[in-house]
Amino acid sequence: MHPFVLTRADDSASAIAAHSQDVQLAFIAGGTDLVALMKDGMELPERLLDINGLPGTERIEELPDGGLRIGALARMSDVAADGRVRARFPVIAEALLFSASGQLRNMATMGGNIMQRTRCAYFRDGDALPCNKREPGSGCSALHGLNRNHAIFGWSASCVATHPSDVAVAFAALDANVIVRGRVGERPIPFAEFYRPPSSTPERDNVLGRGDLIVAIEVPARPEGRASHYLKVRDRQSYEFALVSVAAAVETDGERLRSVRLAMGGVAHKPWRLLAAERALRGILLGNTNGLRSAIAQSFSEARPLTHNGFKVELSQRAALRALLTAGARA
Ligand SMILES: Cc1cc2nc3c(=O)[nH]c(=O)nc-3n(C[C@H](O)[C@H](O)[C@H](O)COP(=O)(O)OP(=O)(O)OC[C@H]3O[C@@H](n4cnc5c(N)ncnc54)[C@H](O)[C@@H]3O)c2cc1C
Ligand code: SF4
Repeated sequence: MHPFVLTRADDSASAIAAHSQDVQLAFIAGGTDLVALMKDGMELPERLLDINGLPGTERIEELPDGGLRIGALARMSDVAADGRVRARFPVIAEALLFSASGQLRNMATMGGNIMQRTRCAYFRDGDALPCNKREPGSGCSALHGLNRNHAIFGWSASCVATHPSDVAVAFAALDANVIVRGRVGERPIPFAEFYRPPSSTPERDNVLGRGDLIVAIEVPARPEGRASHYLKVRDRQSYEFALVSVAAAVETDGERLRSVRLAMGGVAHKPWRLLAAERALRGILLGNTNGLRSAIAQSFSEARPLTHNGFKVELSQRAALRALLTAGARA
């Protein structure tokens, strides 16, 4: 394993200063992704700064509007078990419980989860095959290679990878904000703007820069929050990443959909909102399955499947319908 020096941060200001000044320094939280990337040679920082001791960053706190501020260092298992999360945003708790394993969730943090890197095998295997995310300019082996698990939306010829986080899909559906503290203070980044499309620079997954530390994720109160559901479709029922997944949240008048939030995982470089479907679904009776199905289809005219993942187009629409019906039954 690549040698490194480990130190511990006591306060966020010195952690941010150290990260801004040293390109060879990486934050480490639970270490469940970073250490794997280091072992396989994808990331080789010389210095690791342990941020687990930063005061207050493990808490889940109330926002004045009834939403929640979830500390970046909160463990996935603690967030999934929190009564307020389960009651107000079941979609978040479910997305977490469908992630990884119990042991990993006890160790892994919320900030680390949304920062985890793609599971594209060409990126992870670290062999000699080209990968623009691992080695910019080398090419994309998945574009014409094995791409069953890859994107159907928003990809570029430089990269067709998907983002693997489950809970990021729930956060995207709820229009949560990533709260980032940096050299010039704290700023909220809407989830829709946090991840970058791959374009010609897929080595950059998100908009964070040097000295940016995620301190929390804020989920504003949402009328759709309580009637929400996360559905994950995968090759085996546990300990597996999503082939496709759906976060659905709805508000109804008892029969008709008043408003709908739908985001998908496993289909793009970032959680993918089905905005056209959300608009088309408003006003449709929950019992009108054909109406729901054709409204969902409106978001799939822009799908661009690859050689091996055409099945995701149909699978995604069926999963979206099922997630919507389950969320609707909770309204
Ligand atoms: C076998 C296995 C199965 C898995 N299955 C799933 C799954 O089904 N669904 C799913 O969603 N995930 C899954 N995961 C991924 C897992 O959830 C992540 O590894 C974990 O959430 C990362 O959190 P961490 O605290 O360990 O991050 P670390 O490994 O410590 O850090 C990851 C990255 O985030 C950066 N970072 C960490 N915290 C901050 C911060 N506060 N501010 C800025 N940067 C930060 C680090 O520098 C690093 O680049 C799986 C992982 C494994 C190993
Ligand atoms: S899809 Fe992205 S991560 Fe996978 S090989 Fe292509 S460039 Fe690399």
